[in-house]
Amino acid sequence: MTVKIVTLRALEPGPVFTVLGAVHGNERCGPEAIRRLIDGIDRGDVLLGRGTLQLVPVANPKAYEKGVRFVERNLNRQLYPKDVKTYYEDHLDPILCDLLDKTQVLLDLHSYTSQGGPFIFSGGNDAKELAFAQALGVSDFVTGWSEAFGNADGSREGQGTTEYARLQGAIAVTLECGHHTNADAADIGHRAILRALAHLGMLDPASPAAAALDPGRALPKRRYVRMKSVFRRESGAEFAKSWRHFDPVAAGEPMARLASGSVLAAPEDGFIVLPKEKAAPGEEWFYFGAVASGS
Ligand SMILES: [Zn+2]
Repeated sequence: MTVKIVTLRALEPGPVFTVLGAVHGNERCGPEAIRRLIDGIDRGDVLLGRGTLQLVPVANPKAYEKGVRFVERNLNRQLYPKDVKTYYEDHLDPILCDLLDKTQVLLDLHSYTSQGGPFIFSGGNDAKELAFAQALGVSDFVTGWSEAFGNADGSREGQGTTEYARLQGAIAVTLECGHHTNADAADIGHRAILRALAHLGMLDPASPAAAALDPGRALPKRRYVRMKSVFRRESGAEFAKSWRHFDPVAAGEPMARLASGSVLAAPEDGFIVLPKEKAAPGEEWFYFGAVASGS
């Protein structure tokens, strides 16, 4: 099994920009968006004016082939090269990390299980990263993943592609293109890559694709959410209602009920993030994020 990596180098120096698809194998929009971009490059619609573009349509090939999120270990958690390789995904770590070590900007394309539209996970502490995220044509932003995941214990449980890349000094965002089967998910991913290239000054303005970008297109009002907590499902626990991603919750409103009958209430005004109603006991179930400002 091999990981396909397509690298384009313009004659003019510039940033090293990496786009990843199918870090989770059941998320099909990233590979489709990257393939469309490669087709556009091959046709001459997309001209790279400067810099280096590293494209990985399918970061987890075996999981992609099987149509599953991962085979033995979530590739987007505990991502770092390991001396002792226990799981299949451990063999992918050095390949991805090697690419990310050389990367100044990362765009990682995902989709998700709950119903909802596109949004971006960003670090939230870096003005350049925020400006990059805001350039991608999406209006919902979630920050504070690492803090919510409690990486301070040194477990690196919450360290995925973007966290790893940021440790190497890169700007890094995850674009969740919407529910797995949303018809527009690949379009959103493809447009975001083109907009990223334009934002980074890597897209030659003479590219036919540049004319179709429409930077003035009106977007819905931007929403910013700061992640506060991660909830794993306990056996017998149920949602208080059938949540959709980005449903607002008021302080004190029940979010879920545990088997004991006790209620998980929202600690403050905020949003339900990525609810997975049918998560198995012990799995990530949903996240709570507080309303945040956009700066
Ligand atoms: Zn994913």
